[in-house]
Order: sequence, then C-alpha cells, then structure tokens
Amino acid sequence: AGMGKLRILMLVMCGLWALLPLSAMADTSFALSRLGDQDAPAADVISGKFDTTAVAVPNAIITPTPRVGGWWRVDILHDAAGKAPQSLVLDAPNNTTTGAWLPGRRTPVVRSTTGADADPTFSPRLAVFAMPEDLRAGQHIYLYVKSTASYPDALRLMGTQALRVQDRRSLQVNTLIVGTLLSLTLVGIGMGVTLRETDFLLLGLGLAFALLFLLDNTAELYRIPGLAPLAGVRITQRALATGAAILMALFVLRYLQMAQRTPWLARIQWWVIGVYVVVMIGCCIPVIGLWRQWSRIGNVAMIVSATVEFASATRGAIAGHRPSRMFLWSWLPLLVFLCWRVLEINLGWPANALLRFAFPASFVMAGVLMMIGLGDRMLKYKHERDASDLLAHRDPLTDVYNRRALDQRLHAAAVEAGQRSQPLALLFADLDHFKRINDEHGHDVGDECLREVARRIRGALRFGDVLGRYGGEEFVVGLPQMLARDAAAMGERIRVAVGSMPIACGEVSVLVTVSIGVAILHDGVDGFDEAIRRADQALYVSKRGGRNRVSMLPA
Ligand code: GH3
Ligand code: MG
Ligand code: MG
Repeated sequence: AGMGKLRILMLVMCGLWALLPLSAMADTSFALSRLGDQDAPAADVISGKFDTTAVAVPNAIITPTPRVGGWWRVDILHDAAGKAPQSLVLDAPNNTTTGAWLPGRRTPVVRSTTGADADPTFSPRLAVFAMPEDLRAGQHIYLYVKSTASYPDALRLMGTQALRVQDRRSLQVNTLIVGTLLSLTLVGIGMGVTLRETDFLLLGLGLAFALLFLLDNTAELYRIPGLAPLAGVRITQRALATGAAILMALFVLRYLQMAQRTPWLARIQWWVIGVYVVVMIGCCIPVIGLWRQWSRIGNVAMIVSATVEFASATRGAIAGHRPSRMFLWSWLPLLVFLCWRVLEINLGWPANALLRFAFPASFVMAGVLMMIGLGDRMLKYKHERDASDLLAHRDPLTDVYNRRALDQRLHAAAVEAGQRSQPLALLFADLDHFKRINDEHGHDVGDECLREVARRIRGALRFGDVLGRYGGEEFVVGLPQMLARDAAAMGERIRVAVGSMPIACGEVSVLVTVSIGVAILHDGVDGFDEAIRRADQALYVSKRGGRNRVSMLPA
C-alpha cells in the first residue's frame, strides 16, 4: 500500500521533469557578447577599446572564469521609454561580485552577496541592476563578473515588478524546503540520540550539512548576523559539501547493508568516503586548499558513489530487500538531479531555473522517505523481537504458555486481582489415563492428543484468561474476576469441550477425558501457592471420584 503513494510521488516528479526544458528560455531584448581581455582596465573597456574582440554569446549565458573574472557587453535591442521599470539580473552563486557600467556612466554599480554592495531588497543570490528609464536601442552596458566558481547562468532583462514577484515566490519555496530540512534534521538527531540509533543520527547530521550547504548556495546563510565574513569562503563551502557527502555515503552504506549484501560495492563506497575525507582535509589547508581540482575530484567521487549506491540498491531490490526498494524510490530523483547539476556545472550547460528547486526538493523527499524507511526497519525489528518473545514464552508442543511464562502470568494476574479486590479462579486439569493412551497408540498420537486438548481448552476460554502447560499432561487455567459458581461452570465447559468428541489422529480416533480441580483465590498474590495446592487437591478428588469430572473443595 505504501508503494502506491510512492508511485504517485514519482509521477509528480516525472511531471516536473517534463517542465524542465521549458524553463530554459533565453531573453531576446538584448544581445550578449564576451570581450577578449580579462584584465583590461575599466576605463579602456567602457571607452569601447575592446569592442573589436567581442564574441557573441548564445543564450545570454555568463560563464566567468573562476577567480579570474571577465568582461561582457550587453547591447540593448529595444527602447525602454514608456515601459515599466526594468532590471538586469544575474542569478549567481554567493561568491560573485558583479559591476555594471550603465550607458554614459564612468563608475559602475557593484553588486555582491554581502557587505556594502549587497542589495537587501532582493535574495542575496541575485545581482540586480535597475535600468535607466530612457534606455534606448543601441546602447551598451559593460559588465564585469568575478566569481570563485564557474557557475554558468543566463543574464536576464525583465520588469522589476515581475522580478520581485518571482523572487518572492522562490523565497517561499526556499523557506519551505529549508524549514522541512530543518525539522527532518532535528527529528533525525533527536531520534538518533534518544533511541541510540546511529543511522538516524547519520541521516540527521547529513541533512544538517546539506541544509547548510543549500543555505550557503543561496547565500541566505550569510545574511544571518555574524556569519557575513564567511560568505564566499570556499573552505566553508567545500567542508559543508564534503561533510554532507561523507555522512550520506556512510548512511547509505549502512542503510542498504552493503557490507553484507554487496561486499565489493561496499569496498568501492569506502574508497569514495576516503576520497571525500582527503578532499575535505585538502581543501581546508590554506595553501593546497586553493587547488582548483578539489571540486572536480569531489564531483567524480560523488558520481562513483551514486553509481555504486544505485547498483547495490538495484541488486537488493531485485532480491526483495525492502530498504533497497525504499532507497531506489527515494533517491532516484535526487541522484538524477545531482548528476544533472554536476554535468551542468562541468560541461557548461545552461543552469535550469526549475532544477534549482527540483534538486533541494528531491533532497527533502529523500530525507522524508529515509526517515520512514528507518521507522519501517525499527518496526520490523520490533516484530522480530515479539516473535522471539513468543518463542521464549510458548510451549513448543501445545503453543500455550510454558511453565515459566504461566507462573509469571498467573502471579501478575494474582497481584492485579489483589489490588482490585477481585477473585481469581484457578483450574488444574489433568488428562485421564494418559499413560494408557500412549501405550496403546504410541507417543506421537499422545502428542497429537495433547495439542488438540490444548486447542479445545483455549476454545472454551474468554479473552484475558491465562492458559499454560503445567507439566506433561497437566494444564492450569487462570480466570480473572471469576466467582466459585462461574468457575465451576467454566470447568464443566472445559471438561465437555475436551471429552465430548474423540480426537482423530491419522487412522485412530481417541477419546480423551480430563479431570479438573477448581480453587478460588481471594486474597491476592499472598494466597497464590495455597490456592494452587487447593486446586491440586480438588483435582485429586475428581480423580478418586471416577475421573472426567470437575471438583471444588468446600471453602
Ligand atoms: P491419571 O492422570 O488419570 O491418573 O492417569 P495418567 O496415565 O494420566 O497418569 P499420570 O498423570 O501419572 O501420567 C502422565 C503420563 O502422561 C505419563 C506420560 O506417559 C504422559 N505424558 C506426559 N507428558 C507427555 C508428552 O509430552 N507427550 C506424551 N505423548 N505423553 C506424555
Ligand atoms: Mg499427570
Ligand atoms: Mg493424568
């Protein structure tokens, strides 16, 4: 039944997928070209000295060279006169600084994530430049973009009002995603600590790192007072990213039981985790921390890990391993989006607007489903424990309580009866001439008779009555809240249930009768042993009186 809901979720995700290509539409109100020299002085650039080196950029995509930066020229194609106010927008990662020289200006408008150049009226990721109202076709805007990363992004020229609406929406979606991730994180860590379950803890901590990574990515993290100095520090970013990757890889390794189920894949996963650790340590050491290849190595490790996890889960799912199936359903969209994003960054594909949400949203979905998966696994453990509990308390032949469990339950019932000042009736039942039955028909037939007698006694009892095997062919019944007369009637009912019909065992059919002694316990657990003794005495009276009868000693 659970899988049905998951399928619906998957369909929704596929629907989102279909929308993805639609969202990457280029702006046609301007033309973008890249200028040749990266280090050209601004004065030379805006005087048009480098215009001859301009190369047209398709789809208005800006791809800065990491840490070097670059110059672009925006050629306005339509007049702005009479139109609503417009803005030039670049959606860039948090460590980007953008300067725009508007037509006729000698000084740039500078935008960056934090600090004096940040525009607090927009999301920190957006570099927004208000366009002059008299912007005319044929005018140029020169842009200088410098970033520590090479995230490609499309430059847009759009109505400022529409931009605010769009930014507000994306803020809402982001808040929802961040809020959900935060609760998942807290639940995971809380459960991990209280239940002492490492897997919950790993998942919770992994989600915490992922949450911080997302907040870093949207740069919202650095609008939190005191955190602004960390903005754009690559060490923070990589530590967060590799931290999330290490915790998640460990979690999946354990969740999929890779070491037991697919040992060779587990070994690769351990190597990947080792690589993550090296990347994490490497990029935290100042000198080698600037080495450009760290993120490449990390990305490759991530793709290897995703492939390994996927292979292991597929194998598990085919073999009917529940957690593997759960994993496939929950991580499939995430893995695909992750690979897409990595390819997008490394191959310079245009950044897809919806992918920006689809990726963190699928992360939330994976987190939720993994929590459910862990809960599911704990439930399974509980069922297994209940089953072994049953084994420890049941008599294997007759499936009623064994002697030890019987003593326990009867004592508990006696204590409860005492506390409530209620009677507890005890019935002692012993099969008649059972040695003879064994001798005539064999031990197997005797066993079958014992089984059937236990079944017949149980059929006569109420919910909450206690039935156990006291010894070889002796049963004891505890009847809470039963007075003498009713207890005797119940004894009679059991006697008739056992002895009114022969028991069929293969070819033979054996009539088994039972003698019963009844005693009533009135004074709680203190009188327990005495009551058992009286029931045994009453049984002896039944035996002496000719068997197949119920007796109770006069009070
Ligand atoms: P009565 O109680 O009517 O006096 O006669 P009885 O023949 O039943 O005598 P007693 O209670 O002394 O004997 C119990 C017999 O039950 C002994 C043994 O052969 C048989 N018995 C005990 N446990 C089992 C068992 O687990 N399986 C089988 N097949 N027989 C058992
Ligand atoms: Mg006996
Ligand atoms: Mg007997």
